[in-house]
Amino acid sequence: MSGSPVAGGRAAIVGSGPAGFYAAEFLLKAGLAVDVYERLPAPFGLVRYGVAPDHQSIKRVAAAFERTAKHPAFRFRGNVEIGRDLALEELRRAYHAVVLAYGAATDRHLGVPGEELAGSHAATAFVGWYNSHPDHEHDRYDLGHERAVVVGLGNVALDVARVLIRSPDELAPTDISDAALAALRASRVREVVLLGRRGPAEAAFDQGELADIVALAGVEVSVEGDVTFAVPEHAEAAVRKNAEYLATLPREPSGKSERRVRLRFLASPVELVGDAGRVTAIRFEDTELVENAGKVSARGTGRIHEMPAGLVIRSIGYQGLPLPGTPFDAKRAVIPHRLGRVLAADGAVMPGLYVTGWIKRGPSGLIGTNKPCAKETADEVVTDLEGLPVPPLVPDELDRLLAERGVRVVGYDDWHAIDAAEMARGTHKGKIRDKFPSVAELLAAAPD
Ligand code: NAP
Repeated sequence: MSGSPVAGGRAAIVGSGPAGFYAAEFLLKAGLAVDVYERLPAPFGLVRYGVAPDHQSIKRVAAAFERTAKHPAFRFRGNVEIGRDLALEELRRAYHAVVLAYGAATDRHLGVPGEELAGSHAATAFVGWYNSHPDHEHDRYDLGHERAVVVGLGNVALDVARVLIRSPDELAPTDISDAALAALRASRVREVVLLGRRGPAEAAFDQGELADIVALAGVEVSVEGDVTFAVPEHAEAAVRKNAEYLATLPREPSGKSERRVRLRFLASPVELVGDAGRVTAIRFEDTELVENAGKVSARGTGRIHEMPAGLVIRSIGYQGLPLPGTPFDAKRAVIPHRLGRVLAADGAVMPGLYVTGWIKRGPSGLIGTNKPCAKETADEVVTDLEGLPVPPLVPDELDRLLAERGVRVVGYDDWHAIDAAEMARGTHKGKIRDKFPSVAELLAAAPD
């Protein structure tokens, strides 16, 4: 993917998370000029605002994005929200290709009574809170109860459980938000129960993530529910590894550890019980597994349990949102596409409009999964480019529009200033980084 046919081509990417940065890398390599639009003043999406603060090694992937950003044909257009500050149509008029890489901004709902009670939260919000995401600056969590329940058994559920249960002293030197650290220092949570509606062979987390919790000092992990650890003969290696590992863990807490994480399999929430508007307990139903056409699902047995809990966090997946001007598959919460080319409602390709990352394939996979996904999309952009109409506007005209609209565009040099200021604040506080928790403070750290 290199050479002259695409020289002079330019692409806008909407979203600066891993999906956006990998797409930028491939398009730059192919000779296009790339502008990455991001609604926040800081780049890197879930690498900055999703990956847990005690998982710094995963955050190191940002170094690869920094290398991409050094390309002379790369520009960062931070603090610009497409659909608010600029219409998608305006963007499309200034670029040959627009690649939507804006991820999955919200969370799925359980759809059970009591979900809206105080003390019931989405994991996506909790993760944003401990990571200083500006959308969650003012969020508050009541950690004044001994037991917290996390619904779901994916890697995000394990992140949430680990942050809730591990010693705050171990979190203090990370880039965790000051507000979260203070709340965790005062926390009375000593037990986190994770509810999984299916069994060990269907758990969505990775074994290594659970092993990280098992390894925490003063924390005991048990596996509960009427489960077996058998896996189908042709099960994937990761499934087998999970089940074998789970089988080695105690089947109930010994009571000897100060803090506990209990994995309760075959349990599906049916109601959040409250008092005076606050959650006080979760009611869940034992399930049994049924197999249909190779798919294993959970069916209620009618046996209901009630478990007191002062905090319930649902961690049942992220959810993508539509963007005005794009088609949307509401059932799967993704933008319909063929190999990354966006498809209109009638199935026709929308010329010059592409998609990559979670808004293309749904909210699953690790950071690296975005690389082949972005490559597929970038290849289609390059294939199409010669046949795409010449855009009637140039990007500078969008900058003029943004200035007229009072939008302060954050460039990559501005981001470097923010980055340096955060690192300096971190050094001062004994943290590896101290993130600015609001858009106003992020902007104030960038020179005018
Ligand atoms: P996920 O892996 O899809 O897990 C969602 C969990 O919620 C599953 O256990 C699922 O159970 C459960 N669930 C869904 N609907 C439910 C319902 N109505 N009632 C009860 N349980 C329900 O999603 P995620 O944890 O949000 O993670 C998103 C992606 O990011 C994943 O690919 C994950 O691996 C990745 N990630 C990776 C890391 C890491 O590597 N450290 C960290 C965080 C996230 P069923 O299986 O029964 O549907």
